[in-house]
Amino acid sequence: MKVLVFTESDEGKIKKSSLEAVSYAAEIAQRTVAMVFGVLESSELNKIGAAGAKKVLHITDSDFEPSNIMAVSTAIAQVFEAEDIELMVMAKSSLADSVSARVSIKMDASLVSNVTELPDMANGFTVNRSIYTGKAFAKTKLTSDKKILTIRKNTVPIGENGSDPETVVFQPNSMGSDAAVKVLSQEKTSGDILLPEADIVVSGGRGLKGPENWGMIEDLAAVLSAATGCSKPVSDMDWRPHHEHVGQTGIKVSPSLYIAVGISGAIQHLAGVNSSKFIVVINKDPEAPFFKAADYGIVGDAFEVLPQLTKAIQAAKE
Ligand SMILES: Cc1cc2nc3c(=O)[nH]c(=O)nc-3n(C[C@H](O)[C@H](O)[C@H](O)COP(=O)(O)OP(=O)(O)OC[C@H]3O[C@@H](n4cnc5c(N)ncnc54)[C@H](O)[C@@H]3O)c2cc1C
Repeated sequence: MKVLVFTESDEGKIKKSSLEAVSYAAEIAQRTVAMVFGVLESSELNKIGAAGAKKVLHITDSDFEPSNIMAVSTAIAQVFEAEDIELMVMAKSSLADSVSARVSIKMDASLVSNVTELPDMANGFTVNRSIYTGKAFAKTKLTSDKKILTIRKNTVPIGENGSDPETVVFQPNSMGSDAAVKVLSQEKTSGDILLPEADIVVSGGRGLKGPENWGMIEDLAAVLSAATGCSKPVSDMDWRPHHEHVGQTGIKVSPSLYIAVGISGAIQHLAGVNSSKFIVVINKDPEAPFFKAADYGIVGDAFEVLPQLTKAIQAAKE
């Protein structure tokens, strides 16, 4: 099976979730081709090779700006044809959701999103996908010749044993009517680590008592190079900005490590964090529901535990 992987990058670095998508594809493909958009160093392209891609198609034409859904979808559809692709894999993201839908229409391909496991190809092509904000799974069969999967973060580990890929600059043909939208400029809202992409998240709840105590969360986040998050009541009370609110009605995160401090673990909060690889809970109440979802738990007062934890991590790094 010939598999194409659409990869995303941020500030010149290939996203970890995209490298996972490459490794996912390499597990099932005889030959994995990856697509990258924008200016990237060859060392970044080599990471894609290490993760398992044999070939990288690099689109450098500035008309095909990476966040332009119409342009990116056009280029992908052309690669689908040129490389005779049967399956496309991409890491689930807000961009991937739009691009995958558009490409599936262009290619008449079946699309399944939020896939959590490698496909079962013994009898057709069946995948498991996460539904109802992670509360259930749906076994889904794809029956068309061309298929598209968006995969949930942390579905497979990133491979490191591949070799440097064959890298080809790919020039898509004209966009036709898809040229109707052009991205003129882009600006980040802050220079901080973006919560949806963060590999480590330190999150605080009402147990922190007030916004004046958030320095403890920020100190721990700083030593771990982590993003900060919070529970809904915390952002509702304006202790923290709304873009930090994690959960069913907020941001869904899938970091390698989620540290929840003074958060009870209500089902609506868990819905936003349950695809994290490891969850650490710090709560003074041993009966707090979050402990049931935790890989590691510390029963203790956040005001005592956090400074000590930050100090210990800092010391371990020196
Ligand atoms: C429709 C709907 C949607 C919702 N969506 C979301 C959502 O997206 N995200 C979300 O987070 N919530 C959401 N909620 C709210 C959710 O039900 C909970 O009310 C909320 O998550 C609780 O926030 P919390 O854990 O910070 O506060 P609390 O429930 O008050 O818990 C505070 C915790 O801190 C602990 N604690 C107290 N002092 C300390 C201390 N000194 N040291 C350590 N621990 C301490 C306590 O033991 C307790 O477990 C939603 C609710 C509804 C009805």
